[in-house]
Amino acid sequence: MHTSLLDRLRSRGYRLTAQRRAVAEALDGMNVHLTADEVHARAVDILPEVSRATVYSTLHELTSMGEILELGIEGRSKRYDPTTSPHNHLVCDSCGVIHDVQLGHTPPELPVGEAHGMTVRRAEVVYHATCETCSAN
Ligand SMILES: [Zn+2]
Ligand SMILES: [Zn+2]
Repeated sequence: MHTSLLDRLRSRGYRLTAQRRAVAEALDGMNVHLTADEVHARAVDILPEVSRATVYSTLHELTSMGEILELGIEGRSKRYDPTTSPHNHLVCDSCGVIHDVQLGHTPPELPVGEAHGMTVRRAEVVYHATCETCSAN
């Protein structure tokens, strides 16, 4: 069952100002991967006076709290994903459409010798692909 981002934040006791509520509602849903500008465009429909700066800083806060994921896919603007459970992504390299992919297993653990002293927080697989619409053109 889908718990809305807003309910999740509320249950964690996060202080929900009108601006934060608008950002959380704008980014909510399944298989959602929006750029900050797209989140802003949706948030304005909910709360017309919400500024781009507020949307950006709220997205950064939510990312550092681990409540949303920031996806950096090469050559594309960052996208924000409200689904924080482990999953992978299928990306069309032509138009940038992104789909969530469940692999049924997590990506392989990094061998100690390959970690360069770093602590791995999460790993995901990105499948670079061409979607049906782009293949047809
Ligand atoms: Zn495409
Ligand atoms: Zn995703």
